[in-house]
Amino acid sequence: MTPARDERPDPEDSAHTIASLWALRLCELLCALMFATALPWQQPFAWFAIIAGLGMFRWWHVNRPSFRARPRLQRRRIYRIYMWVLMSYVGSACYFLYVPGNVPIQAVLMSYLLGNATLIAVRLTGDLMRTTIALCLAVLPTSIRFIVEGAADNTLLMLMGIGGIFMTITMVFLSRAQESSVLHQYEQRRRAEAATNAVAAMGLSKSRFFAAVSHDLRQPVHAIGLYLAPLHALAQNAQDRAALRAVEGINQSWRALDGLLSQVLDLTRMDSGVVKADLQPTEIAPLVTSLVMQHSAVAEAAGVRVVALVRPGAFAMADGLMLIRMLSNLLDNAIKFSPPGGSVLVVLRNGGGHWRLQVRDSGVGIAQSAQERIFEEFVQIDNDARDRQHGLGLGLAIAKRFALLMNGNIEVRSALGRGCCMTITLPRANPPAATEAADGVEHRLDTGPGELLPQTGHFVPVLAMRNVLLVEDDSLVAGATRELLTSWGLRVRHVETAAEAFREAEYGDVAICDARLPHSASGLDVALAMRDIGKKVLLISGETNAALREAAQQHQLLLLTKPVSPPQLLSALQNL
Ligand code: ADP
Repeated sequence: MTPARDERPDPEDSAHTIASLWALRLCELLCALMFATALPWQQPFAWFAIIAGLGMFRWWHVNRPSFRARPRLQRRRIYRIYMWVLMSYVGSACYFLYVPGNVPIQAVLMSYLLGNATLIAVRLTGDLMRTTIALCLAVLPTSIRFIVEGAADNTLLMLMGIGGIFMTITMVFLSRAQESSVLHQYEQRRRAEAATNAVAAMGLSKSRFFAAVSHDLRQPVHAIGLYLAPLHALAQNAQDRAALRAVEGINQSWRALDGLLSQVLDLTRMDSGVVKADLQPTEIAPLVTSLVMQHSAVAEAAGVRVVALVRPGAFAMADGLMLIRMLSNLLDNAIKFSPPGGSVLVVLRNGGGHWRLQVRDSGVGIAQSAQERIFEEFVQIDNDARDRQHGLGLGLAIAKRFALLMNGNIEVRSALGRGCCMTITLPRANPPAATEAADGVEHRLDTGPGELLPQTGHFVPVLAMRNVLLVEDDSLVAGATRELLTSWGLRVRHVETAAEAFREAEYGDVAICDARLPHSASGLDVALAMRDIGKKVLLISGETNAALREAAQQHQLLLLTKPVSPPQLLSALQNL
């Protein structure tokens, strides 16, 4: 037997329906009535009562949950036993229901047998062996008796017998064709399922891999970022130009690494369903105006004019941070791909139940054939050398996912050499009754790493606290954070575990807690306990964990996600 034949579901598993149960009983009752016209009535009624009883018992048994729970091969064996018993009994009709010389009643018998044969063929679709044996048991004995008895003096009877055999052979052939078609379909379905499972398993292991890598990769990136500011200050104090250049180089690489890490992680998080849009009525105009202002320096340097025509009072149902990220990417691209002297226009159009926010440029444009591909990951047109100065090719892939998460879309209309029009579609929203206060939690769907290095001189910020309890198990991160905080004039006591944190709980007025602590301790619990004794608390996580984000939001804790740049840490401490 081929594996497909062995493994496919048994056709009888779905064949014993309530409809078939009662339809058969009705046929048997009608046949019993017809035979009662030619035989003493007890004889046909007893015969049909037995077969009805057997059939009903089988139906009851095979539909029991305990039977369904049996292994497939055991079920198959039991189906077979029932089939052999029932069909042998049906075959015995040639003895018990045979009425010599009464052709019409023999015709009824043959119809009953052929009806049964058809039912078997349908019920056992795709199982040639079982069908053939069942048909032979049910129809052949009577057909042979008809031929033998009819050969002497009853041609009609003989022809009915030959017809029975002919019909049996035909059904066997049909069943054979049916079996190969069923096996083929089953094999195809099995292959498709195997392929789907393999893809799902790959996706899952990819998500798991990135979830694991996410935490461990963010730690050193975070630490490098924190070390850079004091290093820059040292180099500046020492007036060491070479050191300053080196620090600036490291700074640029850090920003590139941070950008790449954040974008790749955002993509995988979205693909694994971790990121949910926080949909709120969001006014579009202020958001566009502020983004255009943010891009004005870059636009000016590129000699491109940016104009926004967005009416105030238009609200979309959107996640503000996602919309900012999308729009910022579109503006970046529009400016980047426009020639000096070109212009970029941001317009808001009314699209029925939707808003259509368009970013149009007069740049190089995108060929028709490439327009679908630009929304795929790492696709860049005309950057085969993969020069990272030209971006990563992830911006539009992320923008597309953001748009879909917000129940909107993003589309491109362009022609080569004739500029490009990117359209974000978003559902309309009614203006909120009152503007809600910010929830205090930082949603890090990257607003960018921020300015890493202070531009001038050694920088000592004004902070309302003096002593900080730092709860961090990663020595690299702890060292970097301590260095930075000390350079801001703070005193730091560092502990690694939750137990140590509780022992040192009296120290300082602020606690900075890592969210994941050794021995499966929760930084969130430590942070909450610290807050309960009157400390200000900042929670820092190496993972972009939706559950943690929600918990922090619920407890109104300030949460930052690594890598955190010095300005982000500073502003969080100032906000405390
Ligand atoms: P990146 O800009 O970082 O390379 P994106 O995903 O934002 O990545 O864009 C993918 C590609 O789409 C770009 O490399 C560019 O080839 C093309 N593209 C995007 N916007 C424009 C535009 N306004 N004009 C011309 N080409 C564009």
